[in-house]
Amino acid sequence: YREWETKKIPTTCPHCGTGCQMNLVVKGNKLVGVEPINGAANKNLLCVKGKFASYKFVGSGDRLTEPLIKRNGVFEPATWDEALSLVADKFNQLKADHGPDSLAGFSCSRSINEDNYVFQKMMRAAIGTNNVDNCARVCHSASVHGLAHTLGSGAMTNPIADITTDVEVILLVGSNPEEAHPVIGSQIRQAMQRGAKVIVVDPRKIDLVKNCELHLQIQAGTNVAFANGMMHVILKEGLADQAFIKEKTEGFEALEQLVAEYTPEKVAEICHIEADDLIKAARLYAKAEKAPIIYCLGVTEHSTGTEGVMSMSNMAMLVGKIGKPGCGVNPLRGQNNVQGACDMGCMPYDFPGYQKVANPEVMAKFEKAWGVNLNKNVGLTSTQVLPAATEGKIKGLYIFGEDPIVTDPDTTHVRKALENLEFFVVQELFMTETAAYADVVLPGISYAEKDGTFTNTERRVQRVRKAVEPKGEAREDYAIFCDVMTRLGYPSHYDSAKEIMDEIASLTPTFGGINYDRLEVTGGLQWPCRTPEDPGTPIMHVGEFTRGKGLFMAIPYKKSRELPDERYPYLMSTGRMLYHYNTRAMTGRTEGINQLANRSYIEINTVDAKRLGIKEGDKVNVKSRRGTIETYAAVGNRVFPQEVFMTFHFPDGNVNELTNAEFDDIAIIPEYKVCAVDITPV
Ligand code: SF4
Repeated sequence: YREWETKKIPTTCPHCGTGCQMNLVVKGNKLVGVEPINGAANKNLLCVKGKFASYKFVGSGDRLTEPLIKRNGVFEPATWDEALSLVADKFNQLKADHGPDSLAGFSCSRSINEDNYVFQKMMRAAIGTNNVDNCARVCHSASVHGLAHTLGSGAMTNPIADITTDVEVILLVGSNPEEAHPVIGSQIRQAMQRGAKVIVVDPRKIDLVKNCELHLQIQAGTNVAFANGMMHVILKEGLADQAFIKEKTEGFEALEQLVAEYTPEKVAEICHIEADDLIKAARLYAKAEKAPIIYCLGVTEHSTGTEGVMSMSNMAMLVGKIGKPGCGVNPLRGQNNVQGACDMGCMPYDFPGYQKVANPEVMAKFEKAWGVNLNKNVGLTSTQVLPAATEGKIKGLYIFGEDPIVTDPDTTHVRKALENLEFFVVQELFMTETAAYADVVLPGISYAEKDGTFTNTERRVQRVRKAVEPKGEAREDYAIFCDVMTRLGYPSHYDSAKEIMDEIASLTPTFGGINYDRLEVTGGLQWPCRTPEDPGTPIMHVGEFTRGKGLFMAIPYKKSRELPDERYPYLMSTGRMLYHYNTRAMTGRTEGINQLANRSYIEINTVDAKRLGIKEGDKVNVKSRRGTIETYAAVGNRVFPQEVFMTFHFPDGNVNELTNAEFDDIAIIPEYKVCAVDITPV
């Protein structure tokens, strides 16, 4: 590079799953700004995170620039050779002493597809375990399971542009897109201005409520009852699409029988809403020709998360609104590449492209391609690995770009698990709360320093391009995995990310037609894209469902695992705020963003605040069965009395000290959205 030269490098935003396209503005070897590009998902828009928090963190003085080894409790700089040899020796020893399933790895939903592919290959082919997972486990694993089971594919059915333009009704469930996916939120708002009627189903008065057609302020944890009530009304009023049901689905009789019990009055009582509002919502949704369901973590992060997702499929199939433009079931994926981390097989039961570990033909294919005998046992989820570490069954852990001390529920429990490991490796950009527990920390590189691809929430694979050189000795992440693999006795090397994508395409039918040359020309391809001639698949389940027939699931409503009682009288839910992203590793290093939002807070209803003697901005203690934190009160009417809400971005006042590590039985996703707390003024 030349110091005086200014360049613009087109790439993909590294924050949420919207996948906005943008130029990184580079001067010399420094990022100096960001400009929007007219991408398929963002139409020239960027939100505050994309515009201001996508570049300053890259050049931050906090970046890890050399490998670190902990000696006598203190991190000391080490050479790559020392650090990688130690990792390989320890893992080989643990494997020899306790077997490969005593080791586990969590991959990075923020990093490129190519890194994720090589990470799971390292865990499977070189270490010999299927104990590999990614942070979808704690956000949308319920979508992957629930949609795959009912429809045949666990991904968003329709493109963002399709469900935000030319639609009559949007059924928005447990999603606050103006804060969590702001560019999608802004497209929904534009759709409202053009006349689309939005039904918001959310325990909070999110900003979209101000202009929506109807707000059903259901109690957190009652999504299944709400959906059953909607379907009761739709069937009772003859609004179901009987031809669609007969021709394209199965399991309808059991569903019909079950939802007969969910009268509007019964559902109103469970959900704390008006029966008439439920009836109105059911009529609006069923009668519209184009009406997508858009949902997010308010549906998935429950002990009934997978059932909540299946309930979304049930509603869409009942009215025949699937496999068509302006319809479908559309989970908004959180992290920039969490869709891709799942697609790339960073899950304990799936190889890339959701090809099953349990399928002998798939297993034989990967054994042949990778030239090694693979472990036939389905692995543990990340939410099973941590308790197994506490019990001493998992001895070694490799975490690539995740920070479970901040992000996972019941932090005390996570700390205990990490402390109990015999050997722990973290590959990161910064010294995070989790990395502080590691034995070895390896410095990886950011999205702006590498070539690759991200896959956004609408299954669109888009390019990430190198804009600057990494600092110090930080290295390409897949190259680090290759070196670890080689030292573990499985020689591995790739010349480029492009070469890795070619290997992915050769082994993954749904990615078979995706390569860098086509991505340059098209700007992005939506999988399934099976051949070089295949233009990709904007709308899924057209004609028939991916699984053949769509499957209705009759799902009775179950209560959340921990509800308020005398000792902990408030129902607490958690979520994102506009300005920060997850653990703030990136947004927290942008000064302007910190000036706008620099501390955690708890939303409390005015009635409760008055009774407790709490005013806006007061310090309060929040206590659950798992811990106590100090935070600040945000008093108002966004939440109902006896309900409270906290964001999860801040290590000080970390809400996950309080959240409940109760899991959904199918996806093993934690119940972040409901736990019981008490609040006292400080
Ligand atoms: Fe980035 Fe998401 Fe904002 Fe788009 S909406 S600029 S992808 S954070």
